Amino acid sequence: MVNFFSLSSCSDGNSFILYSQPDNLILIDAGISFKKTSKLLKDKFLDINNVKAIIITHFHRDHFNGLDSIIKRLPNVRIYFNILYKKLYTNYTNKTFFQYLEKFNILDFEILPFFIEHDMVNAGFKIIYKDKKIGFLSDMGSFDDKIINLLSDINLLIIESNHSIELLYNSFYPVELKKRIDSTKGHLSNEDTLKVILKLYNPNLKYIFLHHLSKRTNSMKNVEEEVVNRLNFNNLKFIIAPYDYPSETLTF
Ligand SMILES: [Zn+2]
Ligand SMILES: [Zn+2]
Repeated sequence: MVNFFSLSSCSDGNSFILYSQPDNLILIDAGISFKKTSKLLKDKFLDINNVKAIIITHFHRDHFNGLDSIIKRLPNVRIYFNILYKKLYTNYTNKTFFQYLEKFNILDFEILPFFIEHDMVNAGFKIIYKDKKIGFLSDMGSFDDKIINLLSDINLLIIESNHSIELLYNSFYPVELKKRIDSTKGHLSNEDTLKVILKLYNPNLKYIFLHHLSKRTNSMKNVEEEVVNRLNFNNLKFIIAPYDYPSETLTF
């Protein structure tokens, strides 16, 4: 079985847990501290000492704020990050670089990273465990046919649903920030996320995990209204990640 949940998912910190066995945990992004990660894992009856690998999607603060405190306490954990950051993040000793469209393995999982459009080098992943296929997408301003084709047979889609367009433009954010978020290198709005789901729908797609909701310009209610309620495929289960406490665990 594959298990997946978010520990925290918002612009303050993003951290996700993936595993097949509870003593072999993979952390995807490390946006919250060792202390908080440890506590939230305990709430899920899991032990932070069982984190065996950390994958960093990109080096925006909300995705690696907790990394230093975690590896200080867990020095043997291997960090996987994009080779394009090789020259910038040289202080991690236990590291493996990944490259777009080159598969790598962590424990029982096969992982294929691919380029996604953002205002910083970023990667999405196709994750395969036995006959189960997962698409992981966070922080992307736009999508193209390459991504749609790569993820055409997934069972679980993990995708950001960052903001509601209306709330974004009515917010007190400076105009430049609104433009950045809404640009093709920013984040997916609820409307964009709906479009991606419609493009990616296949009969084997059973689970949609929506995350990285903005505290100021989105809410679970908005995501329900603007994404979930607009899709009426049978047997599609949705989980919406809370901002700063763990989501329900998805097991399949
Ligand atoms: Zn982010
Ligand atoms: Zn980002």
